[in-house]
Amino acid sequence: MGPPGAGKGTQAVVVASALGIPHISTGDIFRANVSAGTPLGEEAQRYMDAGEYVPDSITNAMVRDRISHDDCNPGFLLDGYPRTLEQVNELDMMLESDGRRLDRVVELTVDTDEVVGRLLKRAQDQGRTDDTADVIRRRLEVYFDQTAPLVAVYRERGILLEVDGMGDVAEVTERVLSTLRD
Ligand code: AMP
Repeated sequence: MGPPGAGKGTQAVVVASALGIPHISTGDIFRANVSAGTPLGEEAQRYMDAGEYVPDSITNAMVRDRISHDDCNPGFLLDGYPRTLEQVNELDMMLESDGRRLDRVVELTVDTDEVVGRLLKRAQDQGRTDDTADVIRRRLEVYFDQTAPLVAVYRERGILLEVDGMGDVAEVTERVLSTLRD
């Protein structure tokens, strides 16, 4: 978890590979569907381009399907999901019905000013259509309103690991991996 631009995607790819488990990014799956022009992509794009969350029903169904694949049997790393309380509850149910549970939640903590700078840079490097100044502002608002409160839910469960997300990519990866090992 962490606000847009905290480095979740970058870290999640490396950490999942180090752990030998699939990296499941709901944002990547939505973007792949947008590129492929699927009905799911068409539906998701309107929300993404506005900086809003794709409705829970769509997102939950997509995750349910993805984690049912065999490559997820040894475990998996979710990136950008859950983002709402309804997604938290739905994920619990999906996992429970398979006799599984969430082991750990990693929160990358960052300075919000730094985050906006990173996102504007990403807009130049990758050309993401949701990285414009207005949409970035909205995405941050939505994060603080809907997703930041979930951190407390996982803290209460005792599975939250807070990791300083500032600094070098490799340094942050090392912090994440060493916190996970403790
Ligand atoms: P991300 O790549 O994780 O920043 O996600 C990009 C966009 O995809 C978000 O701004 C949302 O519009 C959408 N999205 C990704 N994950 C979710 C989610 N768990 N719930 C709702 N919308 C999501």
